[in-house]
Amino acid sequence: MDALTTFTDRRELERAVALLRRLGIEYALISPEPAYDRVGCSALALSGDARARFLDCGGVDIVSAGWVDARPPALSVPDDASPDFAEDVFGRAAIVVLATCVADRDRLRLTAHLSGDVAEVLPYLNAELPQGSYVEALPVFTFMDGHRMLSLFRDRIGIAKADDIVDAWASLERLRCLVNDVWARRASITPCFELRRRPPALEVYKRLPGTNCKDCGEPTCMAFAWAVWRGDAEPQRCLPVFQGDRGDLKDALLSICSGLGLESG
Ligand code: SF4
Repeated sequence: MDALTTFTDRRELERAVALLRRLGIEYALISPEPAYDRVGCSALALSGDARARFLDCGGVDIVSAGWVDARPPALSVPDDASPDFAEDVFGRAAIVVLATCVADRDRLRLTAHLSGDVAEVLPYLNAELPQGSYVEALPVFTFMDGHRMLSLFRDRIGIAKADDIVDAWASLERLRCLVNDVWARRASITPCFELRRRPPALEVYKRLPGTNCKDCGEPTCMAFAWAVWRGDAEPQRCLPVFQGDRGDLKDALLSICSGLGLESG
């Protein structure tokens, strides 16, 4: 399997490319330009053997974000340039950690550092996205972007379950636009400092029948609770609750799911 990494800045990328050329190693680059050039640096893909030789011959001294299995991105980078904002509180994002997602080995998790400081934006995001969770003491705002879970701190972002590197850049760019847009509209938003935490997966489990019947496609009710909590499964897949003899749990299950920011329909 080919391996893929990205870099914290263009200088490290250029060092890697220069070394690969000197060694005569074939490589492929995936560029975030033009649409995602403010939230990423090019990704480098190498075959397994090429990566081993690259690292043996000095590549280990080049600062990369970490290596993951390379898969062809599902979507290409759009041709549009990323939009400008009069006041850019987000700045640029640099992916500093790239790794395989613990909960889903086919997906990626990453940490990106920001050149800006978004702490003052978080209460406005908390007001605009009531399905998110805000902890002022850290501060951190966590919310779902589709099946991806984003945690936005003052100067860094954690993303879990990105599909691939282009998907990760796309999610970062959506967040960049969201943060700057909310900040631009802040005069018309009442900031919300209310502490909202996501209910733990155990609270989903407590509202399932607990029979481990597997009708949902998961081996146990606990596995299903985790899938719902991560946003990977609709609660309606629990057939005993939605079509069977445990309809008494339906309202409680939907209620906790709305607290997770999931659709309750
Ligand atoms: S269908 Fe419902 S009761 Fe059956 S294992 Fe899945 S979550 Fe548990």
